[in-house]
Amino acid sequence: MPIKICPECNAEHGPRKLKCACGHDFFAKKSTATTDRFSVQPAEIRRDDAGRIVFPVHTPAGACPVKLSDLTYEGVQRWGGAVVTAGAKIGVEYTPDAVRYWLREFVDINAPLFNELKPACQELVA
Ligand SMILES: [Zn+2]
Repeated sequence: MPIKICPECNAEHGPRKLKCACGHDFFAKKSTATTDRFSVQPAEIRRDDAGRIVFPVHTPAGACPVKLSDLTYEGVQRWGGAVVTAGAKIGVEYTPDAVRYWLREFVDINAPLFNELKPACQELVA
């Protein structure tokens, strides 16, 4: 009887086996198997100057690591820069999307001020 060998763990299976016990799916497209393993697209993974893998974060979880107290355009630029710096210390790259997400923690998203300050998230000052 022909057998099928799992490319992940080398286990032998019958020819009609759909999924190995190790989780390998014989019928999954390669691209799907890749995205299963990473929460970000592999092309997005970069390394910092020290060679560590840096993960871009677009939608952060939890509270913002830096408190925003200066609700001016320049204040948001500096605050966003500090947020990015805080992320770099723990190996994550907070994108402008992530900074804008956290801006909602400090400014009412329905207030005109939010729309005024939003573009500052794209022009962060380190
Ligand atoms: Zn397997």
